[in-house]
Amino acid sequence: MTRRKPKPDDLITVLDDTAPPTTVAADERRWPVLVVDDDDEVHAVTRFTLSDQLILGRPLAMWHAMSAAAARKILAQQKEFAVILLDVVMETDDAGLVLVDYIRNTLGMKETRIILRTGQPGYAPELTVFDQYDINDYRTKNELTRTRLVTAMTAAVRSYEQLRTIAENRRGLELIVHAVSALLETRAISQFAEGVLTQMTSLLKLPLDGIVCAQRGSPVGNDHDRLYVVGAAGRLAQYIAEPLDRLDNEEIRNAIQFATTNHHHVFGEKNTTLYLAGAGQEAAIFIETGHVLADNDRQLLEVFAANIAACFSNVRHVEQLNFAAYHDTLTHLANRSHFILMLDVAIRDKRTDHAVMLIDLDHFADINDALGHDVGNALLVAVATRLEESCGKDCQLARVGADIFGVLGPAGQLAATDLFNLMAQPFEVGEHLLPLTVTLGDCPVSDDDSGFGLLKRANIALNLAKRNRMTKYTRFSGEMEADTRWRQDVIRHLRDDFHAGKLVVWYQPQIALSSGRMIGIEALLRWPDEDGFVQPPSVFIPLAEYSGLIVEIGDWVLQEACQAYHRLAAIGQDTTPKRIAVNVSMPQFRAGKLTERIAALLGSQRVPANALELEITESIAMDEPKVVISSLSDLRSLGVRIAIDDFGTGYSSLSQLKALPIDCLKIDRAFISEIANGQGGMFAETIVALGRRLGLDTIAEGVETAEQAGFLRALGCTEAQGFHYAKPMPLDKLIAWIQDGAVTPAYSATR
Ligand code: C2E
Ligand code: CA
Ligand code: CA
Repeated sequence: MTRRKPKPDDLITVLDDTAPPTTVAADERRWPVLVVDDDDEVHAVTRFTLSDQLILGRPLAMWHAMSAAAARKILAQQKEFAVILLDVVMETDDAGLVLVDYIRNTLGMKETRIILRTGQPGYAPELTVFDQYDINDYRTKNELTRTRLVTAMTAAVRSYEQLRTIAENRRGLELIVHAVSALLETRAISQFAEGVLTQMTSLLKLPLDGIVCAQRGSPVGNDHDRLYVVGAAGRLAQYIAEPLDRLDNEEIRNAIQFATTNHHHVFGEKNTTLYLAGAGQEAAIFIETGHVLADNDRQLLEVFAANIAACFSNVRHVEQLNFAAYHDTLTHLANRSHFILMLDVAIRDKRTDHAVMLIDLDHFADINDALGHDVGNALLVAVATRLEESCGKDCQLARVGADIFGVLGPAGQLAATDLFNLMAQPFEVGEHLLPLTVTLGDCPVSDDDSGFGLLKRANIALNLAKRNRMTKYTRFSGEMEADTRWRQDVIRHLRDDFHAGKLVVWYQPQIALSSGRMIGIEALLRWPDEDGFVQPPSVFIPLAEYSGLIVEIGDWVLQEACQAYHRLAAIGQDTTPKRIAVNVSMPQFRAGKLTERIAALLGSQRVPANALELEITESIAMDEPKVVISSLSDLRSLGVRIAIDDFGTGYSSLSQLKALPIDCLKIDRAFISEIANGQGGMFAETIVALGRRLGLDTIAEGVETAEQAGFLRALGCTEAQGFHYAKPMPLDKLIAWIQDGAVTPAYSATR
């Protein structure tokens, strides 16, 4: 539908009637304005009125469209309009209003101000339209005199500018939030600086070239004082990680120096330098802006700087954490996790001519205990240094355990004899000259392995080498692993059965040699199943110790022993054993609070402390005296008796023995079995004599014959235990055995 529009009578006469241009060269400093009207005259008048007019100090750049359709074409290319002067009635009665809807809702142009114009008041849109479409102003064309047009434009431009600032700030803040969260992800200072550069350029829409990021302290070395370039792009990128002094741009050097000396941002004529500080760290970012920054951008940068300063210290922490995560802080060598990664790489590169060698320092714990941790640490550093100096460039070193070093390298360079020789020279640590022996285990790299698996295999070899005190070096072989798997299966099975209550405790009588009467019993663990025993204690106890399961099991054995004590006490005064001996393993001491646990148990079970005897092997007592001596003293002051089991198999000296708080030596079975056919018994004799000198009881274990019993009695050995008297048996059988009054005839239990 077309109709003639009423001619505006009060409009300024058009002097210049040339066709209106549809585009104007984009100029940031001009306010972009779009005039949409189907009346030539209106375009001409508007242009005439506004072309030289400054609005808020800036000229306008005008676009002209003769219809709503033409306006859409322009808007398809350019959306940054400060103001749109829009005719309501054009192609249709409401073409202008439809266009407003399109501008606001389809194009999403929220900040552009719209001034509606119509030929006559009768065509005024509903009031709701103003709200709905956020229309700034509505004028009849009659009203738009020159002055009024300028004031309406000024108001519109001002409100546009305000809206744009708000939106820009919001966008800026969103950018900052985004930038900061992106920066938080970065793990290294260099990456962080690069991130700052990119974020900065996108915030300010600047080329990357003009930004330099510097921090106090070298990003790679130990210099903590000088300023170093940590981020730069383009030509300046070559200065990254270099001291700032080397940068061949005086302006940048001075600006950064100034900001860091004065601890604040510097907003200059052509550049800006941001100052960042946080968590003891200092940095500055130089930005070549080319002009004075608008307040807006300035605020944005300040917010950004405050935020990245927080990230900055964060990155430092992450970097430190990263270092800590992959390095041993004492020796600065790679740690176990790092070593596994190195092994992964070797496997991936199919370096099958390589091997992993593990070097375990013997008796390191003793050195630590005897000379203190500082000496222990210094020794570790000395070992690391010697290894570093001697291992070739092809080798990679790590500290994979407290006193275990790992070397990955060509198998030919990792000969065990060479390493033994290398370690043979004593280590100079402070005033000490410490001799050191090591145990070695290695495993060749195979390409179907994992770093973790490879290390595990080398460790299996090392553990075997440790058990075999003769060779001190073992190379991994497939059978070892089968052995490990078997051990793990047994441990799992044992744990399940223990928790299912399937373990039992048997008891073996201990006899006073003078009277032939039972004076005690030893509690011995059994692991039964339907047809006999799953494994003998000599097999499963070491596994229970190795896995730590013995701590739990040991507590339970103690509890069982206490209950057995009461059942036996109930039979009668004469036949009650004076005490119950319970075996205790090293992990039970290491688990801590052994004394407290035992005291609590004795209290709750109402068993007198002197009715309990703990048997610890000679090797435990001698290998780790520090760990056990204080516990033993505490236990003894409770009243608990302590016996040294398997005595004679270890290497304790008289002085060591004197230092131990003990009551009894238990002569190892091996020295008793020597006593046969009128022969042997020399060791047993020595031990009995030793016991007497130290004021200790002696008990012979594994007494199988009357001859042995007689011999020991003659020596003055106080007690005996063995098949000659009775085999270990379940509690019920023991009670029956006691009630039978039997002493000599051996009870024939399976074991
Ligand atoms: P042990 O402490 O030296 O225990 C004595 C071992 O000698 C027992 O072996 C016992 O059955 C055996 N025995 C006793 N009399 C004779 C004899 O006349 N001739 C021979 N040939 N052997 C005799 P068992 O019960 O197999 O225990 C083996 C080891 O397992 C024990 O050696 C002990 O070290 C450990 N063990 C047993 N029960 C426990 C426990 O509850 N806790 C801990 N930590 N270790 C235990
Ligand atoms: Ca024992
Ligand atoms: Ca023993």
